[in-house]
Amino acid sequence: MINNLNCPSCGQKLKIQPNSWVCSWICSNCGLQINKKISGKTITPEIISQLCKDKRTAIMSGFISKNQKPFSAALVVQGNRIVFEFPDHINSNSTENNKQVVIRVESPSSGVAGIYITGPVNFQCTANFGLIPTRLAECMGVISAGRYLLYNQYNKRLVIKANNRDFVEYALREVIPARKEARYLIEYMWQVLGRFEAWEIKYEHQKRSSLRGGVVQSTFPRGLFPWLKVDIFPEGKNIRVQLPDDPSLIANFRASIRTAQGEGCIYTVPSGAEKVVRAWAATVKGQQ
Ligand SMILES: [Zn+2]
Repeated sequence: MINNLNCPSCGQKLKIQPNSWVCSWICSNCGLQINKKISGKTITPEIISQLCKDKRTAIMSGFISKNQKPFSAALVVQGNRIVFEFPDHINSNSTENNKQVVIRVESPSSGVAGIYITGPVNFQCTANFGLIPTRLAECMGVISAGRYLLYNQYNKRLVIKANNRDFVEYALREVIPARKEARYLIEYMWQVLGRFEAWEIKYEHQKRSSLRGGVVQSTFPRGLFPWLKVDIFPEGKNIRVQLPDDPSLIANFRASIRTAQGEGCIYTVPSGAEKVVRAWAATVKGQQ
């Protein structure tokens, strides 16, 4: 895939050079060139690939200015040039501040994520996503929060603050996860975030002791999935449960309903546990 990129300006093939990618349409005037290092930041093939596909990247940290100041920016294709697009400096202005939502995710231990949404939409909870590492629990937390916001008709600017450096590097396409499941999760998250006007993610580590509300192993995250539609069919001594296709919802279902057997969106649960399933659905929808 990386060897087969097209110029985001003219559509011709890009060629790899020692220090850059250049447009192969040499006879013409395109001349687009993307350096492998821009203002001190390594531009990975994955970032290039996003730039070629979408003509822009997410807002990324890790650039260093000529005055040695670190800064964040998106890379954007403008004609045959690559330019910076700077995030608005919103934080200093309190009225502007109301126009963006901040999602903070913190996974204090494997599988569990604290999710804090602040801004025009406010929400917080702790969710258990089962036997997954903290970096993926934070990814699940962002997916859940993103879908919660979209359900609440918020799709403007999003600032994400995460506690796990690996997760932030995955999210910024600086590192590709080795495991297929992790790659699938990150891609799912990008799709959800792609529905917002703009998003940026920052690594902001906080000591575990500062976790608001402490470490709660809540299995039924109240109101986290307000959009949930669950179908339950009797099937002999069992019930069949059909869930929407969302990895964070499915992970919470599996962690909450220990007797559930199955994979993907369809699970079998003993009839005796139907009440528990219905209680889980009502709680995560926010009906109880
Ligand atoms: Zn070109």
